[in-house]
Amino acid sequence: MDSTEFRRCAKELVDFVADYLDRIGERSVLPDVQPGFMAELLPDEAPQESENWKEVIKDIERVVMPGMTHWNSPHFHAYFPTANSYPSMCADILLSALSCIGFTWMSSPSCTEMEMVMMDWLGKAIQLPEHFLFESKGPGGGVIQGTASEATLVALLAARSRSLALTKGAKLEKLVAYASDQSHSSVERAALLGAVRMRLLPTDENLSLRGDTLAKAIKEDKDKGDIPFIVVATLGTTSTCAFDNLKEIGTVCSKEDIWLHIDAAYAGSSFICPEFRPLLDGVELADSFNFNPHKWLLVGFDCSTMWVKNRLDITEAFSVNPTYLKHEKEGQIPDYRHWQIPLGRRFRSLKMWFVFRMYGIRKLQEHIRKHVALAKEFERLVCGDARFEVVEPVLLGLVCFRLKGPNHLNEELNRRVNERRRIHITPTRVRDRYILRFAICSRVTTSEDITFAWEEIRQVAALLEK
Ligand SMILES: *Cc1c(COP(=O)(O)O)cnc(C)c1O
Repeated sequence: MDSTEFRRCAKELVDFVADYLDRIGERSVLPDVQPGFMAELLPDEAPQESENWKEVIKDIERVVMPGMTHWNSPHFHAYFPTANSYPSMCADILLSALSCIGFTWMSSPSCTEMEMVMMDWLGKAIQLPEHFLFESKGPGGGVIQGTASEATLVALLAARSRSLALTKGAKLEKLVAYASDQSHSSVERAALLGAVRMRLLPTDENLSLRGDTLAKAIKEDKDKGDIPFIVVATLGTTSTCAFDNLKEIGTVCSKEDIWLHIDAAYAGSSFICPEFRPLLDGVELADSFNFNPHKWLLVGFDCSTMWVKNRLDITEAFSVNPTYLKHEKEGQIPDYRHWQIPLGRRFRSLKMWFVFRMYGIRKLQEHIRKHVALAKEFERLVCGDARFEVVEPVLLGLVCFRLKGPNHLNEELNRRVNERRRIHITPTRVRDRYILRFAICSRVTTSEDITFAWEEIRQVAALLEK
């Protein structure tokens, strides 16, 4: 493919993409395929000779689409949203073309400096304390990680190094990390990867981890001679969008000199709205804070933004410096390779730049508010039907509900709804109660889609009664 062909083929593909997204709601949101379906559709080996673009583009529908779960369909209400927007897609084309690997400032100055400015822009949009911004000229700053899981692991490894340095001669097996029993599986996994013990602490009646629970656990461990070194607090849990008590936890962490990392993967985007910003109060007590614009802020996967109070905690933990990566400007500006696990990194901040400029903060706020309003609308529908109950407060774009009655009834409801493939929802289990989650996900979800989904759920519920 030369540039002339590229112009033609890429334009054709752009039309395909626009058509796909324009009519995505007409497709069945879930695929109807069995494991191994694709091997049947593809040849056993790669072609020896080049093929025709016409054949390739035709095969998207034949080979790819049958096995797609359409995450951006307005009928997708599972998990949490994954961001999708045209400005972000445009940036993806550009960053593929630039295809720089911006591990040091020198390896691509624009890649590093755009990221620094975008992290400050976003930090200000959610009113982060000044000390997290590059602009403050202090030791703080932000970085784009691939995922929230990586951000948690980076925080945990940095905290581990800091703690081992402070308690000279301490052994790894003495270190202990904490999170709530509602935290994401990636938090427990970070401790596994970091080879440290993690305690998942019980939450209160609002599924929120409280300061006194944490303080008690820390005391128990210290009495045993163990070394508490990090707490991962969650704002907006995956199961039910519950919030840990950040102020209480932060106060305990400050007193005990323990690293506080905040995982706000989903909820973080809502903090650009002043009315939701109080949910972040207490962030001034944190050592690191992370959320995923690739979930709810219209910046396509992958873009997980992480701020740290003191970047030396991270860069000193991860620094190795071979000659082939050194450069003359070292020390004057971040070399992001020291802030992350891989060496290579993409020019992801271009996606933020395009999205910020083409939407503006105001339209991004509208996007969040629209989703929250749609969730409230669904909540009202559920509350209007005596067979159902809403089981957790609806703060953002997630509604947790169930049929009044035993778990098996709700398991059956979930199974049948997804089997019909008109909408997609995913369940969770909290304290032995099986709960259905309904998340507002697509950028284009409307009030009609909410009514459609609710009718579908009611119909299936009625079938269960027979
Ligand atoms: C989605 C989610 C994660 C995982 O996000 P990745 O970016 O896929 O690693 C972590 N924590 C919470 C609370 C989440 O909702």
